[in-house]
Amino acid sequence: MVQRFDVHERFAEGAQYLAGELRDGSSGRSQQVVDPATGEQVFSYRLASTADVDTAVRAAADAFPGWAGATPGERSNALHRFAAVLGERAGELAYAESLQCGKPVKLSEEFDVPGSVDNAAFFAGAARHLEGRSAGEYSPGHTSVVRREPIGVVGSIAPWNYPLQMAAWKVLPAIAAGNTIVLKPAEITPLTSLMFAQAATEAGIPDGVLNIVSGAGREAGEHLAAHPDVAMTSFTGSTAVGKRVAEIATSTVKRLHLELGGKAPFVVFDDADLEAAVHGAVAGALINSGQDCTAATRAYVQRPLYDAFVSGVADLMATVRLGDPFDPATDLGPLVSHTQRDRVAGFVERARSYATVVTGGEAPQGDLAKGAYYRPTLITGAAQDSEAVQQEIFGPVLVVLPFDSDDEGIALANDTPYGLAASAWSRDVYRTGRASREIKAGCVWVNDHIPILSEMPHGGYKASGFGKDMSAYSFEDYTQVKHVMYDNTGAARKDWHRTVFGDRA
Ligand code: NAD
Repeated sequence: MVQRFDVHERFAEGAQYLAGELRDGSSGRSQQVVDPATGEQVFSYRLASTADVDTAVRAAADAFPGWAGATPGERSNALHRFAAVLGERAGELAYAESLQCGKPVKLSEEFDVPGSVDNAAFFAGAARHLEGRSAGEYSPGHTSVVRREPIGVVGSIAPWNYPLQMAAWKVLPAIAAGNTIVLKPAEITPLTSLMFAQAATEAGIPDGVLNIVSGAGREAGEHLAAHPDVAMTSFTGSTAVGKRVAEIATSTVKRLHLELGGKAPFVVFDDADLEAAVHGAVAGALINSGQDCTAATRAYVQRPLYDAFVSGVADLMATVRLGDPFDPATDLGPLVSHTQRDRVAGFVERARSYATVVTGGEAPQGDLAKGAYYRPTLITGAAQDSEAVQQEIFGPVLVVLPFDSDDEGIALANDTPYGLAASAWSRDVYRTGRASREIKAGCVWVNDHIPILSEMPHGGYKASGFGKDMSAYSFEDYTQVKHVMYDNTGAARKDWHRTVFGDRA
């Protein structure tokens, strides 16, 4: 059950979380948090300045030696408490997430919040499994040991589509491995990242281990990516901004982790279970109003099933209930902002000149007209090289295209710059096996689309970026390995000294 609270009262001191305390931003510029279901302001705060970013980085740097020096068991215990506190705050977190994003409560209550709690519980366990791969004698007279060490201060930048889960994905592997962190949430959705940080403090995670700067991308984001005392930049967001962040971060030679955009194909072979594919496509396209980097966006359907698939999707989309995110019966809330809704509508309006809008393609009128709503939209007849097929729309829009041979279906699925996720639908294990091998994406679902797990890696191929979130694989990004080589002979004159001293060795 969502638990409402007074947002102004909760964040009266400001929307920056520095060394365990809420503070006001010092940029002198204000930012509104708007309920996209009504268009009304629910909170206003002062954005972080570059000086606030410096303060956050200093707090993280000061906290680093103590946190990195804690035993894995101590960090694990703190993360177990963190998971418990997040679980106790589930109702408030679901409220704030639905308020700032317009998510239907059934999504925030059943996906965003429990997913984040589960992530904390997973990394509490995983923290104790960190290890170097081996110790042994790889040359006579020496023992080599591999140490796995944290990197230092991580600067993370997150998007607005899943603010709580993105905070969890960025923060948990980083701190489980002994790093400290400065997280910049998207400026329009800072509330649950701040609550996440407060929960960390309540769980006993030391001040400065997790800091939040709620600031503008160009100012706070770029300053964080460029900061000389930040050892790693971890970014989730669009490919365009990711490229900019990468340029800035590499100028100071930082480790990079980029989780970028997606344009997931949904490939339906002619022996697929049609009902399963239709339901999977509508749910996969509409989850979070389509503002999901792995959402089903391009359905390729083999010719014999094409007509039935299109009419099945159109009929099912018509049953989806748009409404108040806090009404448990609502299936689809608004988009995150009116700006995002207008951007999506722009893609659909332009598509009318080269394709057919079968259903949707408009904002609802009446009670919902004030919100950033957009009807579930199905487009057919678009060419493979059109923008509706190639670019990330990030709204409740599915484009369907036919294909003939299996070769063609797989080739079309691979024919965008992105490679984050995909799905293949067939009753034939050899067909889905081939598709899962040949589709270039970080995740391929077989006869499903969307589910994620704390234990499994999430991350892109191609222009969808590199690095993994969740799972033990994320430790490869958030740690570095060191070779320590011990002489175990005690001899003053080593054999290899001959290469310098010759006979005198
Ligand atoms: P965005 O790229 O506009 O912004 C992401 C973050 O970057 C925000 O915090 C923003 O303030 C910041 N930012 C903007 N300009 C910046 C700059 N010049 N320097 C530093 N930081 C800057 O993305 P968005 O619109 O918030 O989110 C939607 C995008 O995120 C989509 O492309 C989606 O696919 C992607 N996404 C990817 C994943 C993934 O795991 N691959 C997950 C969620 C979202």
